[in-house]
Amino acid sequence: LRRAFRNRRGQREWNKYAPKPFESAEEFERETVKHIETTLARSLYNCDELAAYGGTALAFRDRLVIDWNKTQQNQTFADQKRVYYLSLEFLMGRALDNAMLNVGHKETAKQGLSDLGFRVEDIITQEHDAALGNGGLGRLAACFLDSLASLNYPAWGYGLRYRYGIFKQEIIDGYQVEVPDYWLDFNPWEFARHDITVDIQFYGHVNKYQDDEGKMVCSWEGGEIVQAVAFDVPIPGYGTPTTNNLRLWASKAASGEFDFQKFNSGEYESSVADQQRAETISAVLYPNDNLERGKELRLKQQYFWCAASLYDIVRRFKKSKRPWKDFPNQVAIQLNDTHPTLAIPELQRILIDQEGLDWDEAWSIVQKTFGYTNHTVLPEALEKWSVPLIQHLLPRHLQIIYDINLNFLQYVERNNPKDRDLLGRVSIIEESNPKMVRMAYLAVIGSHKVNGVAELHSDLIKTTIFKDFVKIYGPDKFANVTNGITPRRWLHQANPRLSELIASKLGGYGFLKDLTLLHKLEAYVDDKDFRKEFQEIKYANKVRLARHIKEVTGVSVNPSALFDIQVKRIHEYKRQQLNIFGVIHRYLAIKKMSPEEKKKMTPRVSIFGGKAAPGYWMAKTVIHLINEVGRVVNADKDVGDLLKVIFVEDYNVSKAEIICPASDISEHISTAGTEASGTSNMKFVLNGGLIIGTCDGANIEITREIGENNIFLFGNLAEDVDELRHAHLYGNFQLDKELESVFDAIRSGMFGDAGQFSALVNGIVEHGDYYLVSDDFASYCKTHDMIDEAYKDQEEWVTKCITAVARMGFFSSDRCIDEYAEMIWNVEPLQPKADGVDGANG
Ligand code: PLP
Repeated sequence: LRRAFRNRRGQREWNKYAPKPFESAEEFERETVKHIETTLARSLYNCDELAAYGGTALAFRDRLVIDWNKTQQNQTFADQKRVYYLSLEFLMGRALDNAMLNVGHKETAKQGLSDLGFRVEDIITQEHDAALGNGGLGRLAACFLDSLASLNYPAWGYGLRYRYGIFKQEIIDGYQVEVPDYWLDFNPWEFARHDITVDIQFYGHVNKYQDDEGKMVCSWEGGEIVQAVAFDVPIPGYGTPTTNNLRLWASKAASGEFDFQKFNSGEYESSVADQQRAETISAVLYPNDNLERGKELRLKQQYFWCAASLYDIVRRFKKSKRPWKDFPNQVAIQLNDTHPTLAIPELQRILIDQEGLDWDEAWSIVQKTFGYTNHTVLPEALEKWSVPLIQHLLPRHLQIIYDINLNFLQYVERNNPKDRDLLGRVSIIEESNPKMVRMAYLAVIGSHKVNGVAELHSDLIKTTIFKDFVKIYGPDKFANVTNGITPRRWLHQANPRLSELIASKLGGYGFLKDLTLLHKLEAYVDDKDFRKEFQEIKYANKVRLARHIKEVTGVSVNPSALFDIQVKRIHEYKRQQLNIFGVIHRYLAIKKMSPEEKKKMTPRVSIFGGKAAPGYWMAKTVIHLINEVGRVVNADKDVGDLLKVIFVEDYNVSKAEIICPASDISEHISTAGTEASGTSNMKFVLNGGLIIGTCDGANIEITREIGENNIFLFGNLAEDVDELRHAHLYGNFQLDKELESVFDAIRSGMFGDAGQFSALVNGIVEHGDYYLVSDDFASYCKTHDMIDEAYKDQEEWVTKCITAVARMGFFSSDRCIDEYAEMIWNVEPLQPKADGVDGANG
């Protein structure tokens, strides 16, 4: 290749044969049929929708790869600072629709598929979701990749290639059942790079010795080696040829396929044991959202991925032959939560043990390189690892962590000689039994900037978990970058008709690149035709969701009813229990109503969706209660269309794309101070729905942007939560009267065996109501009554919805990425070159 490009003729020849954009539907068809016949070995007579999807995906992938190659060449030649986004989760969803949009030519493909006898919508839905994440954190990473490429930032994502993503959820007899998600049967979007491998070491011991110059050096020896193999996923930008790379690591035995000696002596099964043990590392995504469980395999995953990624990043840097002090000018690494914190001691280890730098010089490089994004203040989610476990698995890293801690504590002591307790409070090592390493503290100490993900959250981290660090480092080390979402997927793809309507008024699709342009929609708030079409689109989206509900649950729901939706991970702090208690309260009220009163009621469909972590019993109980309530309410003739209760099983990104455009009201009702940001709140409003929410996470900034008349806020404020909890614990707890009737109904067996729900009820009545369900219940129900009334005035309702959409410009993930780039990474975009790179490739 290099040789071919030594001369211009070679380069010309090459470019002549490289795949070009489809110029016609016919060309698309030719390519697709070729892939179906040859790559997939199918013929006209057995080409089903799955095969048509495969052919289409491969035809688009061919185009994507050309842009990807050019982008990588361009970035290598420009050799400017790059961003590396380390995330243990990337909740990507489907890729084909996104590739069609970003590469362009979706219309061409639609025509071509239609000529071949298929509908593009059916083909797109053949794709398996890439669900390598749990919820908000992983989906944020996916939106960020889209924005990084769309804005032409030289950036790579690094993650793990789990063989099993988040489990598939089935609901059987009202209970969640987890089914493995083997998603790699056919994945045209990844390229296995069997030539890019890294040996990753575990266990072993540390030798300390004097080198030839008399300097003490450490060397990590022995133990076992596992191989990391790179799998690359192209990430196309929108409206630009820039196509970045997401590199996912898979684990493999380093010693070859299997142990030949054992194989030859007849021990067939144990001969593959090493291989299987190695492959376990990247086998499965841990299904916990906002909860840490401290399992050894999880720590192995974290180190495996950090070490492979850093090896790759350092190798790329070393090719430039720059001095080490330039490392932070070339490399910005963002830690998505504390999961990649081991990258900090790992980089320090590489610099001092392998590259021979002094400790201080190395540490200064480390601190300038890393930025850390905190995603939670929930104590159960803050990562800690036991010292004996790290000692066993990563003996050299433990020494380095101790040295980092020693230097840090000495610094703290020098600057705060009078504060004796401070050292214990901020030490990376918690003096418990066993001792624990506090990963968040290590992340703060090893980074130059720490950010929260919404204003309230960024303020809270400074006054709670990192309060002492603000004192030590000053407030400037802490920043806020309010989360955002990509309007490409969450408006244009999920809601093409709304996107088209907006484009018709704004004179094109520029808003997909600059979401603030939406503000011009306010001029159409009173435009009759616009309002009518806006309403029609909402109705059509509700019909689409109703059809899906019918298909998967068998329940018919009326699309004219108010759709009230709460979809997100099931978690006590997100308070789906508050929602379902509210639904029961409504049900009991309807049962008592006269026919006249019923006539005045706003009919509702309460829709829930979300997965519970498999070991999270309370969350599973909530799912069960929702389904039991649904079973009773949906069959109750007295209620009819006035209330339906639906649980949509297996909520994931592609379901979210159907659900978000179909809401009238969505629920973001976490106990104040517990939800870091939330991002589905943004998706629902951008798609023309309103919110019922607490003053929590990004709800606060959404309110500020769209106006408090256009959101339904309720409940206690974050600043009052501690006091209320404290009061509950000291006997000052009064169960809300209406909630008591809800509990009476549950206890009476109205929704099946009451014993199954007793822990849920007792958590509130007897065990302190930690999430303040009772305290917020009255204002929650009252706010829902207001919503019922507001919905009756459809004219006013649609005014609110349109106004809210017009004011959502701030919540684009493009804005987030520009903020990170300027405030944290100090990187510039790199304009793509039309034909890749001029001149020779080497
Ligand atoms: N899960 C999926 C599949 C999502 O698409 C999203 C966001 O859209 C989330 C979870 C996060 O939702 P929330 O911000 O409500 O927690």
